[in-house]
Order: sequence, then structure tokens, then C-alpha cells
Amino acid sequence: MRGRIVTLSGVRYSYGPVPSRRLGRSLGINNIPAKVCSYSCIYCQVGRTTRIRSDRRFFYDPNDVFRDVKSKLAKATEVGERVDYLAFVPDGEPTLDVNLGRESMLLKTLAVPVAAITNSSLLWRDDVREDLSRADWVSLKIDAVREPIWRRINRPHKAIRLSQVLDGMLAFAKTFAEFLEAHPKVSRLAYPGLPGHPGHDVAARQMHRGFGALLAFNVGKDEEDAKRFVAALKTVFHAVSLGSTESLICIPYLTTMLYLPPERRTTFGLEKHTVRLSVGIEPPDKLVADLKQALACVA
Ligand code: SF4
Repeated sequence: MRGRIVTLSGVRYSYGPVPSRRLGRSLGINNIPAKVCSYSCIYCQVGRTTRIRSDRRFFYDPNDVFRDVKSKLAKATEVGERVDYLAFVPDGEPTLDVNLGRESMLLKTLAVPVAAITNSSLLWRDDVREDLSRADWVSLKIDAVREPIWRRINRPHKAIRLSQVLDGMLAFAKTFAEFLEAHPKVSRLAYPGLPGHPGHDVAARQMHRGFGALLAFNVGKDEEDAKRFVAALKTVFHAVSLGSTESLICIPYLTTMLYLPPERRTTFGLEKHTVRLSVGIEPPDKLVADLKQALACVA
């Protein structure tokens, strides 16, 4: 029956919208049955894991999940309920679902950002990182970085190693660090931490504690594109000077260089559509989601 799509076990594919501390009002997606998980955390609100797994499987038809979410979203819209995110937050670990990427792509056609919250245990797998990168917002959870504590708190599947989990998280972060470099609306990215930067080798020798949090890049084709991009940012604040725990951004041509005559403002390698970004302490996935949506506003 339309609007009453349920799994074989009688569980609905979606629920909410529910208020969420990080996601505003989110419509939750049950893409796996309860309670299938790679962990059995001592604090789990859903209780002990009944089916502990480390391999990915087919659970539900992605089209059924999509139709259910679509119908729930339409009902919420009808009664004026706001939905900020469609969020993969099942009673278990969402990345165990082999169809996670396909479902994300289907859901993105509904024009509401897609989020996923994962315990990070399968991030060492290329296919999991790829599937998660299709979401607009991803939260990577980790409770401990020391093996004995991790085992005691998260009680993982015996095939999962903490070193694998941590390596997977770094690989995922790198994927997003390279996000700007690969984005078609971004050019001349200046960040010495990237191997393609002309000063990378020198920086790697001298900057032993990391490559810093400042980067510059060109947005779109002209000043108007840069302005549009900066105006569309929600997490990153537009500022005239950089230096805070929050992420800040400026268009030097229109701020720090404004006191110079226009013909001299570009003599330092800056262009009219160059922006400088100072990365703060917000979660990286939140920042990337913000950059992504703002870049989408650039023609
Ligand atoms: S990872 Fe989440 S769902 Fe799985 S056992 Fe831990 S708290 Fe529960």
C-alpha cells in the first residue's frame, strides 16, 4: 500500500523527522535491520548486537528504501515539517549495507542533503569510502585510539583491527582534503600539504608538525563567482582578517588588498576570484559539506 512501505520484518525504512543536535531536523533511514553491527558497544542505546558482522551485505532493495523516504518526505512537506537532512542512522552500522552508495545517489534526487553517521570500522575498504563520499555530510565516530580500551568499549567483530580503522579514517580525510583540488570550480589551489604543490618537498622537510590550516584557491571564473561562493557558506564565516578557532574566509582582492590600487592587487599571485581559507576546529565533514554546497551555487 502506498505510504506503508515496510521491510519483511515489519520495520519501516525511514522514521521522523526527528530533532538532532548536529543535523537539525533529520529524516532517519533504516538501511539495515536492527541490530546488525560491526561493534557491540557497551553503551549502545539499542542494546547488545544480535548479529555482529564485518562483511557488507545486501539487505533491502534500494528502490524500496528510496520510495519510502520519498513518501515520508512528501508527507512532512505537506504538513509543513522542516527536513534538514536525510540521515543514514539505523539501529546498527550503515556501511554494512552494500547498497549504501546507490541509496545515497537515489536520495540526492530529492534535493535534501544526505548524511551518514558511521562507527568508522569499515573505512579501510575502498568501496565504503567511495559510498560515504556520495553523502553531503559524514560523521566518523571513534571512541578510543588504544587497542585494549577500544576492544573493551566497542567490543568489535574479531576480524576488525583498530590500526585498520585508524588508517581508514586518515584515508577518508585525505579523500576530502583532495576534494578542493579535484573540484571543477576550483583552480590554483595553494596548499603545501598537497604533493602537487611546488613547495611540497621543502614543506615536508621543514614542517614536521603538519602543513598548517591556511589555504588559498580560485573559485569559478571571476570576482562575482568568488562573492557568490563566500555568500553561500554557512559554517565558514566571511571575515576581513583570518585568525580564530572558527573557520574564516576572505576575498583578499576586496579586503586585505583593498588599500592598493586595483592594478597592484594582483601582483602577489592573487586574482580577483582568489579566496583565502583559515580552517578552524569544526568537524572536517561539516566543513566539506559547507564548501560543497557553496560551490554548487557558483555558475
Ligand atoms: S556502533 Fe552504534 S549501533 Fe553499533 S553497537 Fe556501537 S553504538 Fe550501537
